[in-house]
Amino acid sequence: SGGAAASLEKIAEDKGIKYFLISYVDLFGALRAKLVPAQAIGEMQKAGAGFAGFATWLDMTPADSDMFAIPDPASLIQLPWKPEIGWLASDLFMDGQPVAQAPRTVLRQQIAAAAALGLDMKTGVECEYFLTSADGKAISDASDTAEKPCYDQAALMRRFDVIKEICDSMLALGWGAYQNDHEDANGQFEMNWNYDAALVTADRHVFFKYMVKSIAEKHGLRATFMPKPFIHLTGSGCHVHISMWKKGKNAFADPKGELGVSALGYSFIGGLIHNADALCALTNPTVNSYKRINAPRTVSGATWAPNTVTYTGNNRTHMIRIPDAGRFECRLADGAANPYLLQAGILAAGLDGIAQGRDPGKRLDINMYTEGHKVKGAKRLPLNLLDALRALERSKVLKDGLGAGFVASYLKLKTEEWNAYSRHLTQWERDTTLDI
Ligand code: GLU
Ligand code: MG
Ligand code: MG
Repeated sequence: SGGAAASLEKIAEDKGIKYFLISYVDLFGALRAKLVPAQAIGEMQKAGAGFAGFATWLDMTPADSDMFAIPDPASLIQLPWKPEIGWLASDLFMDGQPVAQAPRTVLRQQIAAAAALGLDMKTGVECEYFLTSADGKAISDASDTAEKPCYDQAALMRRFDVIKEICDSMLALGWGAYQNDHEDANGQFEMNWNYDAALVTADRHVFFKYMVKSIAEKHGLRATFMPKPFIHLTGSGCHVHISMWKKGKNAFADPKGELGVSALGYSFIGGLIHNADALCALTNPTVNSYKRINAPRTVSGATWAPNTVTYTGNNRTHMIRIPDAGRFECRLADGAANPYLLQAGILAAGLDGIAQGRDPGKRLDINMYTEGHKVKGAKRLPLNLLDALRALERSKVLKDGLGAGFVASYLKLKTEEWNAYSRHLTQWERDTTLDI
C-alpha cells in the first residue's frame, strides 16, 4: 500500500469486480463490512467507509464520531466462489487518528516494533473446525463415529465436496494450499496453506473463517471454530508456526543451536513462557476456551491441547513444540482467537523475550498428560477466562507492548462477558446442588 496505493477503481475494471466488501474485525473477532459498488470505490479508498463504533465490539459510546474504514488494497481477495466481489481488510480511523483498539492497528504496531529491530515475523496458522448440521447441534456426518477418527480417509472423503471447494479456492488465490485432513475429533477438519508475513497470514485467517463458513452453508452445513463445541471430543486449536526473519534470513535458525533453533528463537520462546498467563486472554479469549485447554481425556485418548506453560521438541503435549529446525509451533491458541490479536499478542510477548533475553527454562521431553504432575515448576495454564483477564490486567509487558488503551478496552468488554457467564445458571449446578 503506502502513498502510491493501487487504484481500486482500476483493479475493479481489470478484474471484473462489481462490488467490494470493505471489512474489519472488532475486538471479539466479529467480521463487519460495507458492501460498496465498484463505481463508488474511488472515493471510499480515500475517505473510507463510515461505521458507528458503538454498534460493534470496540468499546465506544453512541456519542462517539463515526469511524472510517480505509481499505488496504494489498489485502484484496476476489471471492473465488463469487468473483464479482472483492474483499478488503481495512484500517479504522476516527477524527483523523488511527483507532487504538482496532485489532489490525494493534498488530500493525507490533509489526512496526519488530521492524525497528530489523525483524519480520512470519507465521502459519492451523485453523481446526467442525462441520455440523445447520442448527449446530450435531456433527454433520452420522457415520463419523470412530474412536480414533484422526486422518480417517472415509470420513474425510464423505466431505470431499466441501473440502475440495475450500481447497480449490485457496489454490486459486495463490495461498499455496498443500494438505487437508480429518482431525482427531469426529466431525473435525484441518486445512493447511503456506506461511507468510504476519499481516498477510492474519488477513487470510480472517478470510479463511469467512470462506469455510460460507462454503459449508452453501452445502447446507455449518462450520464452527468454537474451541470446545463437544465436551467429550478434542477441541479446535489454532496452532501458530513462527519464524523470525532478518535481512532475508531466518534468524530463528541456527544449525549449532539445540534442535536447530537460535538463541534469538529461545529468547522469543522465553517471552511466550514468561507472559503466557496474560497472553491467554488473547489466544484463548472465551469462557469456552478453557474447556479445551485443561480438559480431561477425550474419547480418542488425548486432547492434544496444552495444559502447562512448557516447551518441548517434537511432542504434542506442550504449549510450545519445536518440530523442526528454525521454527516452532505455539499450540496455545484456539479457534476463537481474533486473528490480529493472536499474532499481536505473540509478537509482543516474544519481543519482550528478546529485549529481556528471557530464558525459557529447561526443555521437557515427556508426556505432559501422564507425567506432567511429577515436574516441579511446570506451571499450569489459567483455568478460566477470569484468571487470564486478571493476568492481562497485571501485565506491564502487554500493556506497554499493545497499548494501555487497547488493553483497557479489551478487559472491559471481556470482563462483561465473564460477568454475563457468571449470571448464567447451568443444569449441572442444579443437578449437583439441588438436594444439598
Ligand atoms: N485439536 C488439537 C488442539 O486442540 C490439536 C491436534 C493437532 O495436534 O493437530 O489443539
Ligand atoms: Mg491439527
Ligand atoms: Mg499443529
